[in-house]
Amino acid sequence: AIPAELEDHYQGLVEQLTISPARLRLITNAFVKTLRKGLAEPGQTVPMIPTYVFGYPTGDEKGDFIALDLGGTNLRVCHVQLKGAGKFEVTQSKYRLTEEQKQEDGTALFDFCAQCLMTFLNDHFPNGAPKDMALGFTFSYPTLQDRIDQGVLVRWTKGFGNPGVEGNDVSELFNKSLQKYKCPLSVTAIINDTTGTMIASRYTHPNTRIGLILGTGCNAAYMDKMHNITKLKIDGCGDDERMAINCEYGAFDSFDHKHLPRTKYDEVIDMTSNKPHEQAYEKMIAGLYLGEVFRLILCEMVDEGVLFLGQDTYKIEKPFVFQTAFLSLMESDSTEEQLLSAGLFVHFFDLNTTQEERHFFKKLAELIGVRAARLSACGIAAIVTHKGIEEDGCDVAVDGSLYEKYPGYADKMHNALVDILGENGKKVVSRHAEDGSGVGCAIIAAMTKARK
Ligand code: ADP
Repeated sequence: AIPAELEDHYQGLVEQLTISPARLRLITNAFVKTLRKGLAEPGQTVPMIPTYVFGYPTGDEKGDFIALDLGGTNLRVCHVQLKGAGKFEVTQSKYRLTEEQKQEDGTALFDFCAQCLMTFLNDHFPNGAPKDMALGFTFSYPTLQDRIDQGVLVRWTKGFGNPGVEGNDVSELFNKSLQKYKCPLSVTAIINDTTGTMIASRYTHPNTRIGLILGTGCNAAYMDKMHNITKLKIDGCGDDERMAINCEYGAFDSFDHKHLPRTKYDEVIDMTSNKPHEQAYEKMIAGLYLGEVFRLILCEMVDEGVLFLGQDTYKIEKPFVFQTAFLSLMESDSTEEQLLSAGLFVHFFDLNTTQEERHFFKKLAELIGVRAARLSACGIAAIVTHKGIEEDGCDVAVDGSLYEKYPGYADKMHNALVDILGENGKKVVSRHAEDGSGVGCAIIAAMTKARK
């Protein structure tokens, strides 16, 4: 049980962090309108970006492809062999990005990507990589395209800030770096991880209609008919043809902050981020931020003299030191003593905790995790409602460590879908999509080649 002196605090936090079913429905309604506005008018906060990925794969795409994936945390290079009939093989290497690499000059970042790609090719193709092998580049930041093999970065998200990239064609920048390192390949397709996840999942699961990322950031893609994308007219492209839309919906409710129940903690995170006012929805949901919500609440209680009296708290007072993975860890520990949590506080922050405090921490982690999962259901429900597939339902392919590793995340999200859509919510089923970006990228490269 939570001790009496913490109980009041806890009740206050319950009030601030709990989102009722009625509120979820209000948010979803506003979300649907926002999605539709983005499809009708260019330059909206939720930009609903046309991806130039036309239609779903058949499952019979074949061949050898290289996929490069610049996520929020890692750079991955994959060799994907598509074998048709929904079958594939992947070999991959991962390179961790340092915080410095996320801020240095854009040229240096793309040079690093090119170097990693060359190392990978030299290891996997000792006799030289085939020159005509398609290269898909999963670049998961809002990027405007008017062709599949080109993309202008609108703005960095997820803590990146490399100068010289916003407003420029990422494909051109990367191709320059590839030439510098004498790479035989050039970019065939620029792809968002959400689109890649949807397409990869569709290759093997034909009921997939949404690709969702819940990792460092949060975003989704789905397939829409050209006649719904009224802001876009393409010569020779029929109204019934379909194109994947990268919603970039982490930006929902940015700037005017009218719909989301933001707490003062969310506001602090927003204002101290490198991009204040942007990505409002993402900042309440994604892995980059959840630990920070928890840390800010603890720090407030330290200031009020409720926690860690007489202990030196400087270690936990540093922004972003409390990882979202720690919340997972606390939630996963169902023992009375909460020894994992005790160890965590001692090891990372030199802080001693009582068993009662640790129970409070666990309940607080739960509040933050449940809030994130419930809010993430609003975006999904909005797409389902926009498409008018409430009765049919669909599979949602989800990639990202938050979804994969946070205890009970999927269940919490499914409960909220029922709160929003009623019984129909049960027909919207999420599933972890492994290798989404790599395989999806390869399939899109294959579809692109076939279309040319
Ligand atoms: P990315 O989205 O950067 O491509 P991931 O899908 O691995 O990569 O997501 C990384 C994010 O997931 C980090 O921000 C981190 O906070 C979060 N994360 C990592 N491990 C866990 C975990 N065990 N529980 C919850 N969140 C986690």
